[in-house]
Parts: sequence; C-alpha cells; structure tokens
Amino acid sequence: METDIAIIGGGLSGLSLARHLAQAGRDFQLFEARDRLGGRIASLQHASRDDTSIVPLGYDLGPSWFWPGQHRMERMVHELRLKKFDQYASGTALFETETGEILSNLGLASMQGAWRLQSGMRGLIDGIAQQLAPDRLHLNHALSELHQNGRLIFKEGQHCQARKIVLALPPRLAAGLSFSPQLDPAQQRALAGIATWMGGQAKFVALYDRPFWREEGLSGDALSQAGPLAEIHDASPPQVELGRDAPAALFGFVGLPPQARHGQKEDLPQAALTQLGRLFGSKAAQPITVAYQDWAQEAYTATSLDQSPASQHAAYGLPASLQNLWQGRLAFCVSELAPDTGGYLEGALAAAEHQAELLQREWIK
Ligand SMILES: Cc1cc2nc3c(=O)[nH]c(=O)nc-3n(C[C@H](O)[C@H](O)[C@H](O)COP(=O)(O)OP(=O)(O)OC[C@H]3O[C@@H](n4cnc5c(N)ncnc54)[C@H](O)[C@@H]3O)c2cc1C
Repeated sequence: METDIAIIGGGLSGLSLARHLAQAGRDFQLFEARDRLGGRIASLQHASRDDTSIVPLGYDLGPSWFWPGQHRMERMVHELRLKKFDQYASGTALFETETGEILSNLGLASMQGAWRLQSGMRGLIDGIAQQLAPDRLHLNHALSELHQNGRLIFKEGQHCQARKIVLALPPRLAAGLSFSPQLDPAQQRALAGIATWMGGQAKFVALYDRPFWREEGLSGDALSQAGPLAEIHDASPPQVELGRDAPAALFGFVGLPPQARHGQKEDLPQAALTQLGRLFGSKAAQPITVAYQDWAQEAYTATSLDQSPASQHAAYGLPASLQNLWQGRLAFCVSELAPDTGGYLEGALAAAEHQAELLQREWIK
C-alpha cells in the first residue's frame, strides 16, 4: 500500500487529523493497533427508546468531561450533532475517612460546571469515523518499525510506503517503536519523559435502575480515603433519558496504584460495590451491571513508565528536540504534544488542528 500521509493511531487526535485531511481532499491512510477506534475513549453503550427513535447512550470508561471555553470540543460536538449536558452535581457530597466514617456537608468541590455527552465520549469517535471512507481506516495494524524513507512495517507483517508519517499515539509508546535510523538519545529521553495523561488510572462504573441517591439529596459525589474508589461521581444520562427508563449510574476512579490493582481484577469490583453500599446505602451494592477498565493494563495506552500515575497535570507540548524530525517527514499528533490544553480531549483536537495546518502549508508551497 502507498499513501501520501500515514496516520498511526485512531484515537481522537488521529481521527480528527484524518477528518481535516478528508475535508481538504488529501490522501491519507490511518492505522490503528487495536480492533476498535477511540484509544483512551471508551464507553459502555446502552440504547434508550424515545417515541420515534433509538437514542444511543454512553457510560464513559475513559474521559467523561469537557469544559466551557474548550471551543474546539464545543465546535466538534455541534458539528457532529451530539447532545451535551451538565454534569449532575446538585445535593450533598460525601467524604469517607480512612476508617470508613462518612461525613457530609464539607463543601467539597465537585465537577459542577463540566459538560458530558449523552452518547458518552464514544459519540465523538463514532461521529468522526462515519465521516471517513472506511477503506482509509485500518484496525489491527500495530506499527512496529518505521524507516526514514517512509517505509512502515506493522506487527502482523503488513507494510505501507508513506511520504509523511504522523504518530498519533502517546509519546511513551512512540519511544518503544523501532526507528531507522534510530532517534538520538536526547530524542528518546524526551519521548519517554512525557507521561501519558491518565494512563495509570482505572475506572469503575455501576448502572442502576434509578438514581436513588438523588432522591435522598445526595449528588453522587464522594471522596474517600478508605477506597478502593477515591473519587466518585454521578455518571447518569440526562434527566429526560432517566425518565425513559435509561439506567442511572455512579462511577469512581480507583485509588489504588496500578501495581496494587494488578491481580485484583476479580476482587476489585466487589470491593467497589461494598464501598458504594457504605456511602449510598444498600441499593448501591445491587447494580444492574458493572464495568471496570484499568488503563494501566492496556498495552496501547500505558507503558511500564506509566505505572506510577502522574499526580499533577504536566506542562505538555512538543519539545524542541522532537521538532522537524527526518527533515519533516516524521511528525507527532497526540494530546500530550498539543500546542495547548495538552492531555485533554481539547488538546487532542488542538494537536490535530495544528498538524493539519502544517500539512496544508507544506502542500501549498
Ligand atoms: C480514565 C481517563 C479519564 C480521562 N478523563 C478525561 C476528561 O474527563 N476530560 C478530558 O479532556 N480528558 C480526559 N482524559 C484524557 C483523554 O482521554 C485524552 O486526552 C484523549 O483521549 C487522547 O486522545 P489521543 O488520540 O491523543 O490519544 P489516544 O486516545 O491514546 O490514542 C492513541 C491511539 O494510538 C493507538 N496506538 C498505540 N500504539 C499504536 C501502534 N504501535 N500502532 C498503531 N496504533 C497505535 C492506540 O490504540 C490509540 O487508539 C482521560 C483519560 C483517561 C484514561
């Protein structure tokens, strides 16, 4: 296969770049290692039925929120005709001490003011993918080798010849690829030093027939020192969908570090439900269904370096040593290397917008 531009990675950055290129009539092929698109975006799907149609709902296992002022996200949501709604945050937030004592009315900050998508963030991925020609999207293509002459070799032996290579994957995963000629040690260090935002996190979601905690004046927000969930929020769809029998939901970030979670895949959901029962009452321990997603165990998201989760948002951006690689033949397009809002969904869109502008400028020259 030959192409002008090979995009490696089908997360929001890679797909959004593909959308820009398709809109500009450019030739590209996108290669994704997993058997699905979306990367760190994944949602548990549910279809609710209104009077005339089926309404797709999503319960996020990866990112849940975007915020006012993130204008690229707002525009994308509008263009894909997705429905946004406010994170539910009315009522009392709870705090659980190390010994399991439950306190309320501490004025804890919640995610009030953040927006969610009715479809789950998965709606972004499905919406963009629907706008792209299916024969340009290649699943199960994990890049393993890349050569300065534009030759790409994938894990299963497939190959491609590209004029330009755009790596739309977390920098630490890029550091593990085989480059020919090799990157110099400073470039390798630069890639390996950029933490994959949220790559060390795990999320637990529980679905219920109704949001019983709201009826008791609770917002669904909780912070806990007892665990295993450290931070809990309401993850229900919008109120109108709840009225149509869509399941309500709570979700929590697991507080245990990745190493401690490893091997607890079976026990952790039960421990999380016991904790939800302590906080929100016995109904919370009896969900319709649950889902658990440990991103640190995902080979196409996190590396061994991501097993100690970053506690703070890093100052992301493209380091000088990674600019203009292979005389401009090799470029990056991933949230962590975006010109602004690095690490966030908005950063993924910023990275794609920036890379599309650079490619367009080169083309016009
Ligand atoms: C639990 C969690 C919660 C989060 N919460 C939020 C939030 O609320 N709001 C927010 O703004 N952001 C949040 N984020 C961050 C957000 O998910 C990311 O900013 C965004 O999804 C990054 O998209 P990306 O395309 O840049 O990278 P990725 O989604 O990581 O995409 C990279 C793609 O490359 C593929 N790939 C990897 N290796 C190869 C290879 N060798 N060959 C081919 N393909 C490969 C991967 O499979 C993947 O599809 C959260 C992340 C997580 C994990």
